[in-house]
Amino acid sequence: MANPLYDGLFGAHAGKSTPFLYLPDGQVVSHQAFLEMAAQIAHVLTGKGLQPGDRVAVQVEKSPEALALYAACAQAGLVFLPLNTAYTADELSYFIENSGASVVVCDTGKEATVAPITKPLGAALETLNADGSGTLMDQAAAMPTSYDTVDRESEDLAAFLYTSGTTGRSKGAMLTQNNLLSNAETLAAEWRFTPDDVLLHALPIFHTHGLFVASNVTLLAGGAMIFLPKFDLDAVIENLPRATTMMGVPTFYTRLLGDARFTGDLTRHMRLFVSGSAPLLAETHVQFEERTGHRILERYGMTETNMNTSNPYEGERRAGTVGFPLPGVELKITNPASGAPLPAGEVGQIEVRGPNVFKGYWQMPEKTAAELRSDGFFITGDLGMVDADGYVHIVGRNKDLIISGGYNIYPKEIELVLDEQPGVLESAVIGVPHPDFGETVLGVLVPAPGETPDTDAIMDAVRDVLARFKHPRKLVVLDELPRNTMGKVQKNILREQYQDAFK
Ligand code: ATP
Ligand code: MG
Repeated sequence: MANPLYDGLFGAHAGKSTPFLYLPDGQVVSHQAFLEMAAQIAHVLTGKGLQPGDRVAVQVEKSPEALALYAACAQAGLVFLPLNTAYTADELSYFIENSGASVVVCDTGKEATVAPITKPLGAALETLNADGSGTLMDQAAAMPTSYDTVDRESEDLAAFLYTSGTTGRSKGAMLTQNNLLSNAETLAAEWRFTPDDVLLHALPIFHTHGLFVASNVTLLAGGAMIFLPKFDLDAVIENLPRATTMMGVPTFYTRLLGDARFTGDLTRHMRLFVSGSAPLLAETHVQFEERTGHRILERYGMTETNMNTSNPYEGERRAGTVGFPLPGVELKITNPASGAPLPAGEVGQIEVRGPNVFKGYWQMPEKTAAELRSDGFFITGDLGMVDADGYVHIVGRNKDLIISGGYNIYPKEIELVLDEQPGVLESAVIGVPHPDFGETVLGVLVPAPGETPDTDAIMDAVRDVLARFKHPRKLVVLDELPRNTMGKVQKNILREQYQDAFK
């Protein structure tokens, strides 16, 4: 017997003194030291009576210990459940109760608010702070540095990951060992990761991007990570010279481009920049290439499926697209009403099937049944199309589709036009209730630094390029768009804010 996830990502590095984590203070954690830390944590957890399949909920700052907690769960057959550090006590209580966690790990500073949640549920509460202090590591320090890995099957659950909550309440996606391992194997091969890679890691590790894409791929390849607590422009610029690869959300790249220190020289030695989690503007892609000579590789995935598509490592990385379905992943575009497949070039809902697709939403059988077809295809909730060359284009989310006077309107098409207007940094287009049309189009503009967009002139410009039914009925200017911690625009907040615009 074996434990495929632990063996593949972690156990494979037993005894290696090679660097795994470079920390901001100059410390280096070797692969072996990391595994020893994980083994000690595994002893702490199972010492509390946890059995394979039990959940460990974790809301802590990013640290090597927090990542070792993930490894410990894999080794002991426990289900790792990382939670966004921004969640409030109310939100936390939902996740802890909903997941039935046996152990909850939080910051010492949050102990007083979390204890009243865990106590009535009988869950144990441990603390872990950004500097590694707290009750978890205090106990771990006294434990043996090796642990007998618990046997697991590929189909056993490895993690519950809650979705970002961009469109509503976060849902717990049940991910198996093989969901995670198969995707890491595919991505490491597609993106040519090797033991020589040093990934600049500035993403949070409570989300699929930083935890499963960045960390799993590096672990599988046996490479190292420069492990920064968060995206800090100075720290990223300072550390880039030591990195070979970087993964980020689009805002990382726009912020780098906004800094004059970010030059071609600084990135010449790099071999790969990856972007995902939200759409990368074609303009950012182009500017990045002009500045650095690198073409950002954009990929597409989600909590429920890990990664589905990627632009090619070799071959054309096409701006505004998310590339091709990954090997082993089937992708089809279907008619939202009938589910029938649509031909190339037509916009419909994106469905995917493969070893990466999750087992369903935890304790949400109806939602699972509605989105996960019995033949294994998952209805992603995204709209898109496949072009004649096979590149997948994301058009937006099904929930953001505007239906006005019987016409389907895709906000992205209008946003692309608005983004190009003078004085506009970015835009968001939403549908708001309208007495005649059911819904109508409202455009939110964010001004470029120091500029004031002329909304009348922009209205005129839009009229020249878009069909009448797509014209925004109103343009409003906001300092910034509401975004969640992953940099995703929260259109539900905008829709709420402007729901009475035409009433
Ligand atoms: P929720 O499901 O709770 O509303 P969420 O969908 O934002 O939140 P995640 O699983 O973190 O939660 O995000 C997945 C979504 O992010 C995808 O469904 C897609 O809409 C978007 N996304 C990811 N990568 C890209 C990309 N490269 N381009 C455009 N959109 C992307
Ligand atoms: Mg989603």
